[in-house]
Amino acid sequence: MKLLLITASAHEIRQIRKTRVINFQQVTMPYLAALTPANWEVEHIDEGQERIDFNIEVDLVGITFHTPSANHVYEIAAEFRKRGIPVAMGGPHVSLLPDEAENHADAVFIGEAEDTWKEFLADFENKQFKKRYEQKNPSSLINLPMARKDLFHRRDHSGGIMFATRGCPNKCEFCALAIMYSSNFRKRPVAEVAREYGSFEGKVIIFWDDNIAADPNYAKDLFKAIAPYKKWWSSQTSIHAGWNDELLELAAKSGCKQLFLGLESVSQISLDHANKSFNRVEDYYKIIKKIHSYGISVQVGIIFGFDEDDKSIFGKTMTFLEAAGVQNATFNVLTPYPGTPLFKRLESEGRILTYDWSKYNGRRDVVFKPKNMTCDELLEGFKRVNSQFYSLKSTGKRLSKSTAGLWWTLPLNLSYYFSYKLYGPK
Ligand code: SF4
Repeated sequence: MKLLLITASAHEIRQIRKTRVINFQQVTMPYLAALTPANWEVEHIDEGQERIDFNIEVDLVGITFHTPSANHVYEIAAEFRKRGIPVAMGGPHVSLLPDEAENHADAVFIGEAEDTWKEFLADFENKQFKKRYEQKNPSSLINLPMARKDLFHRRDHSGGIMFATRGCPNKCEFCALAIMYSSNFRKRPVAEVAREYGSFEGKVIIFWDDNIAADPNYAKDLFKAIAPYKKWWSSQTSIHAGWNDELLELAAKSGCKQLFLGLESVSQISLDHANKSFNRVEDYYKIIKKIHSYGISVQVGIIFGFDEDDKSIFGKTMTFLEAAGVQNATFNVLTPYPGTPLFKRLESEGRILTYDWSKYNGRRDVVFKPKNMTCDELLEGFKRVNSQFYSLKSTGKRLSKSTAGLWWTLPLNLSYYFSYKLYGPK
């Protein structure tokens, strides 16, 4: 039996990714391949790297995708189904909107797929598969196979990608995680994570976790276990980690080079209304300074367009990022992904402007009516901050505040500067 797995990415998303020097390949499909029984021959196409050949001879196609690629994926599915090849779909958008996805697929997967994927393949081989597979309870993360490295398509900084934990205990209004994983935070056994960590040939490992230090004791054990491999790693965490000296010291000793903090906003009132009041703006400086003091650089995630944001938010954000010496930042336009509490609220307020999912990209389009700005003002401010942040002037200001990781954050900032000039919005 032959299976083609596709990590889908619409044209617009591929364009947006070009401006992002740090972007990672997704591990979902190489991991799903590892869960596939050995009698299946598996191919993987990552659309970020290669095009799809619709004439490929396979028995089944499986596609994973995010909301902005949904329209594109429905076209891909139609092409394969026209050729008589069944298509199964899963991933974030399918879990958020299974009824819609079901109209374009032969089978859909809601939630995690550790158990349902194997069940489906057995049903498929018996020619009796169902239209819908739903993982009712959170998957156990014990004894998981390692993702298949032969199906990774990139050998660059994101060649070493894996996960230690899944989910996040928080419930921010705009975040889809709580729906996908029922706010259920789980951890893989430390020894299994360490074994996979050590199995990569490269020096750099990205933990594709949403909140790697959500359980500080687990995180400390993990950092102790991976330290002997002497690799460099990065991951995402909530800012709670920044208060914990012991955790930061162990992280640094184990090779942590950068932590991604979802700050989201420098406006406390915006954070409070987004159900993220555990982020305290008044603590941001102290936390970033502390992380820097362990030689760990900081990347932050910032979202513009909260109801309390007016045009002054862009300047305030830049002032803060420069004063705090933040090394890298990812900016997003607030995007209400379908199914999230934010989407439901904005829809009930009559503020959703489009249901064209290709516009739910968080970078090029505003899909809802902001409260204290026009859509154009929001988009213009967003673009301005992007180009200001990675300007030579701001790079100089920010990186002079802390030398944490300067040897790599300086070239990285310069790469962003040039890629934004080349591919950024004109
Ligand atoms: S802390 Fe981050 S990952 Fe967790 S719910 Fe909030 S936005 Fe999502």
